[in-house]
Amino acid sequence: MTLSIQQTIQEADRCVACGLCLPQCPTYFKTGSEADSPRGRIQLMSAVAKEILPNNDRFKAHMNACLSCRNCETACPNGVRYGALIDQARVITQQSNWASQGMGWLASNPKFLRLFSQLLRLGQSTGVLSLLSKTHGGFAKRIAMIPQLTTMQCWQTHYPAKRVKRGDVNLFLGCITSAFDAETLLASIHVLNHLGYDVHVPTAQSCCGGIARQQGDANLAKAHIEQNTQAFQHDWPVVTVASGCGAGLKDYTTLPVQDISDFLVRCDWSDIHLNPLHAHVALHEPCTLRNVMKSANAVTTLLSKVPELMLSPLKGKLQCCGGAGTYMINQPEMAEALLADKMMLLQQETFDFLATSNIGCAMQLGSGIRQANMPLTILHPVTIIAKQMGFQSELD
Ligand code: SF4
Ligand code: SF4
Repeated sequence: MTLSIQQTIQEADRCVACGLCLPQCPTYFKTGSEADSPRGRIQLMSAVAKEILPNNDRFKAHMNACLSCRNCETACPNGVRYGALIDQARVITQQSNWASQGMGWLASNPKFLRLFSQLLRLGQSTGVLSLLSKTHGGFAKRIAMIPQLTTMQCWQTHYPAKRVKRGDVNLFLGCITSAFDAETLLASIHVLNHLGYDVHVPTAQSCCGGIARQQGDANLAKAHIEQNTQAFQHDWPVVTVASGCGAGLKDYTTLPVQDISDFLVRCDWSDIHLNPLHAHVALHEPCTLRNVMKSANAVTTLLSKVPELMLSPLKGKLQCCGGAGTYMINQPEMAEALLADKMMLLQQETFDFLATSNIGCAMQLGSGIRQANMPLTILHPVTIIAKQMGFQSELD
């Protein structure tokens, strides 16, 4: 729910300034500044909402530096709804630069986003992107974020169960996942169909609204939410593969949203054969999966089904990777500092795969892995499961 100014003041006033959230906050850990802590940000929000302090560039800078990781919420004894507060602060501050505005526009115009992803794919296959990253150093990091792109996927509205039917689910595509990681969506359909579920993909679905919300565009975020509420009319679970999208839909709709791993661990696997995978997999825990979807344990349970797979949770899980939606574009310095910590942890052991349930984290970590030339493949946990069930990507 979007808060009014009065509601913002009331919610902020529920903070008793105990400071229990401070050790959970990655930006406070990095800067040591109270204004970059949850407690400090809440006090600033309250002061600006009450017009005690001006809504100036310093206020904006401290709000924009927040990752919206929501670690602070989980530590708060008073249950202060920090996520709702920071969303409202973003409406007041309205973050706008050409890169994030472009992302927001693309997210709202899926045809152009798909066209953009295919242009990038052409740039990858012809070597133009690699040349650009060498000749224009400033672009190198952004180009490294782009995963290896595949051909465009045309989604069917219905994928029938491949065995005795057990139920129906809706699949939420997500604008970025659909354009940049269709393989995860196809893998999810494969697993769901083979477990006996009809998968429905309503064409009227839209972006979850997360990018617009991060830019402080409340009207656009609301339009996305309304469109999705209309698109998913049935009571079937709305299964999401990107925890960032799932979190936005869970917060702002009444739809029965469920993370794919959480849905899958509740299914009957008794007659499903999974081939062994002799591999060491690092498991990255997205903040939105842990703090909002509350489904982090489901991923561990799901991957534990694969014989011989050795799973190691990536250490330092309370620290965001710095992806955080458009944060990696808008706040590159902090995003890189947070990424550097993750890369150090990844380099301490030898892994064959890195599993993560969020496309934003996959792009951010992928950029670090590509820049470090590490031989490490990033996969969604469901893609690992699907491959062990015989899934072969149709994409090239
Ligand atoms: S959402 Fe994350 S970065 Fe923002 S104040 Fe809370 S813990 Fe800190
Ligand atoms: S833990 Fe909750 S009440 Fe305590 S300072 Fe943080 S937000 Fe305020």
